[in-house]
Amino acid sequence: MQHKHLLIAPDDISRAVEQYRTPFHLYDEAGIRAAVRRLNAAFAWAPNFRNYFAVKATPNPAILDIVVSEGCGLDCSSFTELIMAARMDLRGDAVMFTSNNTPVDEYRFARKLDACINFDDIGHLDWLLDQDVALPELISFRYNPGADREGNTIIGRPAEAKFGATRAQLHQGYAAAKARGTTRFGLHTMVASNERNADYFVTTADMLFGLAGELHDALGIEFEYINLGGGIGIPYRPEDEAVDIERIGAGVQRAYTEHLIARGMRPPRVVLECGRVLTGPAGMLVTTVRHAKSTYRNYVGVDASMADLMRPGMYGAYHHITVLGATPQPDDARYDVVGSLCENNDKFAIDRPLPAVASGDIMVIHDTGAHGRAMGFNYNGKLRCGEVLLRSDGRLQLIRRAESIDDLFATLVEPEA
Ligand SMILES: *Cc1c(COP(=O)(O)O)cnc(C)c1O
Repeated sequence: MQHKHLLIAPDDISRAVEQYRTPFHLYDEAGIRAAVRRLNAAFAWAPNFRNYFAVKATPNPAILDIVVSEGCGLDCSSFTELIMAARMDLRGDAVMFTSNNTPVDEYRFARKLDACINFDDIGHLDWLLDQDVALPELISFRYNPGADREGNTIIGRPAEAKFGATRAQLHQGYAAAKARGTTRFGLHTMVASNERNADYFVTTADMLFGLAGELHDALGIEFEYINLGGGIGIPYRPEDEAVDIERIGAGVQRAYTEHLIARGMRPPRVVLECGRVLTGPAGMLVTTVRHAKSTYRNYVGVDASMADLMRPGMYGAYHHITVLGATPQPDDARYDVVGSLCENNDKFAIDRPLPAVASGDIMVIHDTGAHGRAMGFNYNGKLRCGEVLLRSDGRLQLIRRAESIDDLFATLVEPEA
C-alpha cells in the first residue's frame, strides 16, 4: 500500500488529540492559504479574477474567514449559506448565489445582499416579478450543455442533471432580459465534480466562452463575468496525481483570448466557485480505534461514524487512512474500518491494507476538509463531531464543538395533552 503525505505533522495531530476528544476534523490554515494563493496565481492574467469559495464545502466562519482574507468571495446556494456571508458583512460582488429549485425567500435575501445571482431557470425571472421581487440589475443564467458533455460520476451526466438551462433557453432568457431593459449580464456553468483532468476545465472554458460569444453576436450583449463553476478535484488516492492548476489557468487564458478578445468583446471577469481543491486536502478526520473484531472479515470500529463523513458511504469514495505511530508500520493487516451506525455502509474503508491496530490507536482519515463534516447527519441519534483549526503560528483552536444530546432534543415539541 502506498503511503500518502499528511499535510499536518504527526506531532501536531498528537497535540490535538491530547487537547480535544476524538473524533474531530482538524484543518490546516497554512495549507488552505497556500491552495488559494496557487489558484489565484494561475489566474493572475484574468482581469479581476476571483474564486467564490463554495460555502457548502466547509461551512465554518473560521475557515471562510481564511479564504476571504486571501481574496475569495463566497458561493452560496441556500438561505443559511447566504446568512453566513451576511454575518461576515459580505455583500454585492463578494457573494455569488448559485441555487436551484430556489424558494422565493432565498431570492429576496440574495437581493437584499445585492448578491450576484445565477438563475437556474429562465422562468424564474417572471416568477419573481409575479411575487413582487425586483430583478437584479445583473442577470446571469446557469448553462447545462446536455448531451454535449460527458460529466463525471459524482455530478452525473449533464443530460440527466437537474441543473441549469439549455442553449435555446439561454437565447430566450437573455433576449427576454434585454427586452426588459437589463444591460448587465453574467454566464455560469458547473459540469464537473472532483475532476482531476486539467483539460476538462479548458474544454468547459472553450464551451462557455464560445457560448458567450454566440450570445454576444446574436443579441448584442456583453458579459461582466463568466463563471466556470467549481469541481476541481483532489488526489484522494495515494496514486492519484494532483490537478495541474497552472495548466488550467493557461488553457483558460488561451480560450479567453480566442473566443472573447479576438471577437472584440469587452473583457469579462473570469470567476470560479471552487471549494474542494482549496480545503479538501487541508482537513482530516482524527478518530480513535474502539474495537477490533474478526468474523468473515476483520473489522476495526472507530469512534467516528458516517455521521461525521459520509462520502465513503454515499459515493463509495476513497479516503486514505493513516495509523498514527512513531514509525510507519507495514500494512500487514486488512480491515473494514467502520463506525457504529446501524447501517452496513457506515464504513470508511473496505478490505483496506493497514498496519495491525489495537484499541486506543489513532487513525487519521485524509482529505476531509471539503464536503466532510458538512454532509453529516444525525441518523441513529449520532452526534456530529467538532472541528479544530491548526493556525499558521502553531496554535490549535476549537472552531466548532461537537454536538450534544441537548442539541438533538432541542427540536422536539411535547404534544399537547
Ligand atoms: C458544489 C458546488 C461548487 C463547489 O464544488 P467543489 O467540488 O467543492 O469545487 C461550486 N458551485 C456549485 C454550483 C456547486 O454546487
